[in-house]
Amino acid sequence: MVAETSSSQPDQTDLRQRSVAVPVAESPAPASPAHKPYVHITEKPFTLQNWHQHINWLNVTLIIVIPVVGCTWAVFTPLCRKTALWAFLYYYMTGISITGGYHRLWAHRAYSARLPLKIFFAAFGGGAVEGSIRWWSAGHRVHHRYTDTDRDPYNVRRGLLYSHIGWMVFVKNPKKAGRVDISDLNTDPIVKWQHRNYVLVLAVMGFLFPMAVAGLGWGDWKGGLIWAGVVRLTVVHHATFCVNSLAHWIGDQPFDDRRSPRDHVLTALVTFGEGYHNFHHEFPSDYRNAIKWYQYDPTKWLIWIFKKVGLASDLQTFSQNAIEQGIVQQRQKKLDKWRSRLNWGVPLELLPVMEFEDFQAQSKERALVLIAGVVHDVTNFIEGHPGGKALIQSGIGKDATAIFNGGVYDHSNAAHNLLSTMRVGVIRGGMEVEVWKMAQRENKDSTIKLDSEKNSIVRAGSQATRISAPVMSADAA
Ligand SMILES: [Zn+2]
Ligand SMILES: [Zn+2]
Repeated sequence: MVAETSSSQPDQTDLRQRSVAVPVAESPAPASPAHKPYVHITEKPFTLQNWHQHINWLNVTLIIVIPVVGCTWAVFTPLCRKTALWAFLYYYMTGISITGGYHRLWAHRAYSARLPLKIFFAAFGGGAVEGSIRWWSAGHRVHHRYTDTDRDPYNVRRGLLYSHIGWMVFVKNPKKAGRVDISDLNTDPIVKWQHRNYVLVLAVMGFLFPMAVAGLGWGDWKGGLIWAGVVRLTVVHHATFCVNSLAHWIGDQPFDDRRSPRDHVLTALVTFGEGYHNFHHEFPSDYRNAIKWYQYDPTKWLIWIFKKVGLASDLQTFSQNAIEQGIVQQRQKKLDKWRSRLNWGVPLELLPVMEFEDFQAQSKERALVLIAGVVHDVTNFIEGHPGGKALIQSGIGKDATAIFNGGVYDHSNAAHNLLSTMRVGVIRGGMEVEVWKMAQRENKDSTIKLDSEKNSIVRAGSQATRISAPVMSADAA
């Protein structure tokens, strides 16, 4: 991955304005001699004097300082069984509120949720300490719209670490923000309330609530704060950050490989099922990320259960037809690449045209065999001919069309393929026209003449040298 200049950093214009949760660090106002044009900090190189201005200190506090302090503290904080169970449960509740709520419900509108479910997601998603719904969803829509470009907030082409956490560490240039429509978020009362009160939500749901449950429940106030609060949020952070990093880094691309998103079970295991990210970027408003029953997508299962109990409705899915179209096209692309690496012989239209007399004369110097108007040099194949030397030698200098196509032995598909790699010319005359027809015939049963790599597609049994009924050989007369 190539590191890019600071001038091309994606930015967070909207994000800064929209968020009180993870705002971008303020840059200094323009210097007083007003004649100097104002230059945003991201346009300036890092120096010993200005490096601290490049850092988003609020984000750094929330995603690095607090986790590091808390996890260090955890070493000296005994973990009792009840607190461990609670921390794990709270990890799951807050994590799934990000994937099921922030991501699939609000960022992608993949389904509709009833008010109690929205309140649940807004509260527990807030406890994941990843910004307000409004900020998070806006940034995520930008990511989908501008994937892998400078406007992608977590552009993986700037490196794995950048897409995982670096994008939040550095200040961004508001002028370079990608724009998306968030009018639906702006009119959602839950989203508006949570955005306005995010600091409160963060403090209560991120730290106080998990602490109070353990404290009031079994007297483990400190364990509740450290294990169910800070350690838990650190794990949730990195689990969900993996959707931006790992899901754009490892795995397969069954639907489209032109951009970075990938499918991998490992990423799915870490991200509550968000690891089928190639599918997700192709079909973003589908409530599923995994489409096979055996693939791990607990977020999808949970949404399905919410539907069954009446808390969710309008679950969006793309048609199986649209999904399979993508699979077919991607497989075709891979086949085309594979085809391009193989030797199919010189294309018929590029072969030199020979007179029949020339063919016969040259046959005295090298082993030329004429089949269906195409001249083949079999000199290096005589020894290896499965039917024996004598048979192949009997065709040298002759039209062996009938012999090859069943007169003596109806050669296999593989034999026709092998033969095509030995093409050296075509014969002028009546047969010449037939050869062009055959060149077309090589593409029969298909409207595609050339594949995406600009190679002609030769289907099994349709090679130019294959004729349906044995013909009389030209020199038999
Ligand atoms: Zn993505
Ligand atoms: Zn998404």
